[in-house]
Amino acid sequence: MQVYKFGGTSLGTAARMKSVAYLITRDQQQKIVVLSAVSGTTDKLIGLSKADIESGEAILRDMEKAYADYQKDLLTNEACLASATEFLSETFTSLREALHMQKAKDEKWFVAFGEFISTSLFSLLLIERGVDSAYLPALDFMRTADGEPVIPVITDLLQKVLTTIGPKQVYVTQGYICRNEDDQIDNLRRGGSDYTATIIGAALRADEIQIWTDIDGVHNNDPRIVKNTRPIDKLSYAEAAELAYFGAKILHPLCVRPARLAAVPIRLLNTMNPTAAGILIHQANPMSKGGAKAVAAKDGITAINIRSSYMLMAHGFLRKIFEVFEVHKTSVDMITTSEVAVSLTIDDDTHLDRIVTDLQDFGTITVDKDQTIICVVGAFGKDEVGAGLKILNSLRDIPIRMISFGGSESNISILISAGHKKEALEALNAGLFGQDQVK
Ligand code: ADP
Ligand code: ASP
Ligand code: MG
Repeated sequence: MQVYKFGGTSLGTAARMKSVAYLITRDQQQKIVVLSAVSGTTDKLIGLSKADIESGEAILRDMEKAYADYQKDLLTNEACLASATEFLSETFTSLREALHMQKAKDEKWFVAFGEFISTSLFSLLLIERGVDSAYLPALDFMRTADGEPVIPVITDLLQKVLTTIGPKQVYVTQGYICRNEDDQIDNLRRGGSDYTATIIGAALRADEIQIWTDIDGVHNNDPRIVKNTRPIDKLSYAEAAELAYFGAKILHPLCVRPARLAAVPIRLLNTMNPTAAGILIHQANPMSKGGAKAVAAKDGITAINIRSSYMLMAHGFLRKIFEVFEVHKTSVDMITTSEVAVSLTIDDDTHLDRIVTDLQDFGTITVDKDQTIICVVGAFGKDEVGAGLKILNSLRDIPIRMISFGGSESNISILISAGHKKEALEALNAGLFGQDQVK
């Protein structure tokens, strides 16, 4: 069994969805195909869940028109077209009814329709083409508790659903969406279809998880911000996980973990260049010697500094501080300590006020919002020399708030104010990879 995941841009037009249908039927291997919503749809549905009736109606009219055109370009068989028309009409009726309901709207319920629509239209396309396929509803097996997937439960449910459906060449399922412990519709957070694919791949011990997107693999810097980035040919699980967690948008922050635990390789491929081999993420340890391989940036970081003379020579001080974060269910990303102070960062500031109030028992607290973690990934083993120097030399004109080095052998992280992000990424591209910014 193989797992193929296609993102929103790979489904952006009917022509692209047809290319996807072609790609998955090039060979006879059995596959589970995980689809995101068509690009732009999730954002529109989030907007709809927050909209008043007038602006919500405008969003709905816009989407109805776009999907009417999409289905006409996609399907030719009359019965399939009629099914698509009926499905879209029922979908937009449900969304309209929800918009007009007075009670508070649930964003998660709304966004799920993005993946329902893409997978329903794609399933009809496969029927039209006579592919031996089945619709595999993600809500029947994808389960979370406390916001995280419960792999043993998912494995069990998925196997049962597959047995009930029976053998098919292609199973089509929704990325991103799931049910939580209260049986409500939930999701795996933005970009979550990658995570769905790796969870399924791990659950079924697939041969390979293929993530198809609109770029040729992971680049050594963020191509949305920096010119002259290059694809990386090989990445270890650890390197890919660090890059995804620290901001490389191409992969969901947590999606490497299930594949790594199950030792299933992840291959990244480009739908715009489908014959290229793509890049493979598979080895347990860093793939190469010799310093930096790639750079990523994670925005929306808050830095908290706790200054206290009680810390001097005290034991148990750090435990007390971290307990505050545990109580408020907030994870800490970076940490540095000195004799009398601790600085750490969080990316979820939902409970910041309560965290600061509780921390005040331990010292003087200062908070800096709008920070960015710049993460340099590579092989920084204990015996390597010069990597830190190259990074800091590249960033010599940029004020640095924190540095984290030595926590893992594949990551050096630097915290800067968000206003310096572009400058920092460009400086590292020049300093580490010899790529200046002239095209
Ligand atoms: P999909 O819709 O297929 O899930 P995404 O938009 O989520 O695609 O991810 C692909 C995009 O990630 C690319 O188009 C690129 O602009 C962006 N990106 C950010 N950082 C990187 C990186 N280091 N390497 C490759 N792409 C990156
Ligand atoms: N459709 C969801 C999103 O836009 C999930 C995904 O694309 O992976 O975030
Ligand atoms: Mg994505």
